[in-house]
Amino acid sequence: MQPNTQVLVTGAGGFIGHHLVRALKADGYRVSGVDMKDTEFEASPADEFEVLDLRKWENCVQATRDVDEVYNLAADMGGIGYITAYLADIARNNTLINTHMLEASRARSVKKFLFSSSACVYAQSKQKNADVAPLKEEDAHPAEPEPGYGWEKLFAEQMCQYYAKDYGFDTRIVRFHNVYGPLGTFGGGKEKAPAAISRKVALAPDGGEIQVWGDGQQTRSFMYVDDCVEGLMRLMASDYREPLNLGTDELISVDGLVDLISKIAGKTLRKVHDPSKPQGVRGRNSDNSRLRQVLGWEPSIPLAQGLVPTYRWIAAEVSQRQLKHELQVA
Ligand code: NAD
Repeated sequence: MQPNTQVLVTGAGGFIGHHLVRALKADGYRVSGVDMKDTEFEASPADEFEVLDLRKWENCVQATRDVDEVYNLAADMGGIGYITAYLADIARNNTLINTHMLEASRARSVKKFLFSSSACVYAQSKQKNADVAPLKEEDAHPAEPEPGYGWEKLFAEQMCQYYAKDYGFDTRIVRFHNVYGPLGTFGGGKEKAPAAISRKVALAPDGGEIQVWGDGQQTRSFMYVDDCVEGLMRLMASDYREPLNLGTDELISVDGLVDLISKIAGKTLRKVHDPSKPQGVRGRNSDNSRLRQVLGWEPSIPLAQGLVPTYRWIAAEVSQRQLKHELQVA
């Protein structure tokens, strides 16, 4: 704990950023948050919160004044439907945010800079089977990442490493594997699978149907947001500068995820598969060998446990807001 450290969280109005601000504040840090929008579900506990568009250089310079450490989480991103639909926008927006944030942080003599990358950087040819071998950090090269979003993340990882090499700038690179939890987007098109399925389960009557993207046999691992935030803070405190996985290695199919959430909801639902919808790579899992070695720690909250508060929060939001008619999107 370093209570006199001034920390900047970009993307503080978003899902992981908001949880991170809360955890940093609880640990006694002074925290400023920046986002192009305000928080959606509850007020930010940040000491200061500024609404700034970080694609603009001058806003990055403003955001990084008197800052010791930056957690750069701001990104144009969403679930598989969103990231496969908007390749140019996502690549352009995130390139601008990341290059400007990196250079402004260096110019402002920020001491440490953490970049939030993604498992979407991994070579697609290594993710063709549902019983996929867990991905090790070196599996990102030779490069064959997810179009748009994954290419941009991989490039920004390289930029962080160039800054470390050429300027001695102290960077951290984390590759998240599917983060879920309460207070995240669950409708509107940017939501990811656990939130989308929770919303659909909440809206479905017991004994009814649920639409599932793809054949439901595609696999992923999912990390609860509390583990994610703890891993971020541990990585920042470490001296590790290479890319590092942050996820669980608890592999599950999308059908299995639907079953888990339906059980939590106490509903029996018939799955209707839609193979025309995007489903991403066939299988993806995190190899946590290096994470254990570097941090002496790894995420430990089981999916069946983390989905309970997640589902309950989304179900409460769905019913409170009476969004049924707005939320019934595929
Ligand atoms: P999120 O969409 O909830 O948060 C991202 C935030 O960035 C949003 O609040 C958004 O408004 C903000 N933002 C976008 N463009 C901006 C701009 N031009 N200026 C300022 N703010 C801007 O997403 P999240 O799930 O909290 O993700 C945080 C980070 O983690 C992102 O970099 C994302 O790519 C990465 N990531 C997340 C996951 C996951 O499963 N959630 C997986 C892999 C990587």
